Amino acid sequence: MPVLDTAALLHWPSERLEGGIVAHSQLEELRKLSPQRAMLIESIELEWMTVSTEDAELAAAETGDLPRLSPVDLDVLAIAIATGQELFTDDYSLQNVCRSLEIPFHAVSNRKSTQQWSWELRCIGCRATKKADSQSEQECDVCGSVMKVKRAR
Ligand SMILES: [Zn+2]
Repeated sequence: MPVLDTAALLHWPSERLEGGIVAHSQLEELRKLSPQRAMLIESIELEWMTVSTEDAELAAAETGDLPRLSPVDLDVLAIAIATGQELFTDDYSLQNVCRSLEIPFHAVSNRKSTQQWSWELRCIGCRATKKADSQSEQECDVCGSVMKVKRAR
């Protein structure tokens, strides 16, 4: 049974969702996004889980995607790691972490990213680059201009 992210809960027909694995925190998220949809989801047979996000956080920190993942994203990722089931998500950062862990994943719609990437800081002045440890901008050590977070080439 696949692990389903919130995009699937919002957009898939209920027959397709049945039996899927989801995080308890997704229901709260869904209630905020679409109370009507949340009521529908509660009436469907799903496997609701909550697992420790420790491994998910470590893996996401490793790829540099951690700052881009919400607590709900991490819950969903943690379930995919714990169960070893394939994950349906359109979130490129979640896909990126899955790829690094060799967890199978699919897009909810048809936008699967094909390349592994990492993040780097690139100076807008002298173009110097360095590895990004966080998603915040920094001052360039070389010329003092702003370094912005970019996808590493
Ligand atoms: Zn510079």
